[in-house]
Amino acid sequence: MRICVLASGSSGNCTLLESGGARVLLDVGLSWVRVERALLSVDVDPTSINAIVVTHEHSDHCKGVGVAARKLKCPVHVNVETLGFIASKLENVGRRQIVLTKAGESFMIEDLEFTPFPVPHDAVNPVGYVVRTNGLKVGVATDLGYPTSVVKHSLKGCRALVLESNHDREMLLNGPYPFDLKQRIASKRGHLSNDQSADLLSEVIHDALEVVLLSHISQENNTRELAFSVAAKTLNELNRQDVTIAMTYQDRPSDLVSIE
Ligand SMILES: [Zn+2]
Ligand SMILES: [Zn+2]
Repeated sequence: MRICVLASGSSGNCTLLESGGARVLLDVGLSWVRVERALLSVDVDPTSINAIVVTHEHSDHCKGVGVAARKLKCPVHVNVETLGFIASKLENVGRRQIVLTKAGESFMIEDLEFTPFPVPHDAVNPVGYVVRTNGLKVGVATDLGYPTSVVKHSLKGCRALVLESNHDREMLLNGPYPFDLKQRIASKRGHLSNDQSADLLSEVIHDALEVVLLSHISQENNTRELAFSVAAKTLNELNRQDVTIAMTYQDRPSDLVSIE
């Protein structure tokens, strides 16, 4: 399976997952022009994408879903509550393209098995995803206020993790955001701090974990260096220098991660 986080952060999220004949975009929070450019830069033909999967209705995850679905004429997998919030974006998308999902219920896209799991976040029915193929498991958890037992359980046994490391708590508290926004981000329905992310990593780590992609890094309340150093410190303490920490970016794709 190959994973590339095409863009990640509060101005747009989109992740490519592929295996065999499956090429799936998890969230399309970018304009189609940017998605096309990002896919071409990693040598993926945009017209070869065969499905879109949506985690939640926030515009940094959904603003390009409608245009992408119209261009690709592919299925959009989304739960009914989230669909209610993004219906206007999908107005000109064929009704038959919409495939309803439910947390805990797996579905197949070619040979990739997707299983949504609920995450605590200020959205109507937000989910993370576990994706499996040929005995390989990958977990994607961004946009969550804290790691519930369901989140921890879901992320166990993954070979690769796309894990939120949104903010440094001190930078957030002392930063430029208004008080209520700071509260919202730090709340149990907000985003994971670097420390929370590292704690979660230490709880789900196992012998076969190869790579963690640190995601949804705030431009205002974090730096890539800080996020990296907190994760690296935790991995050092666990004597797991063999686990690769890969970075994601707002404006360009991450390294292409390949697990076999
Ligand atoms: Zn987000
Ligand atoms: Zn969100």
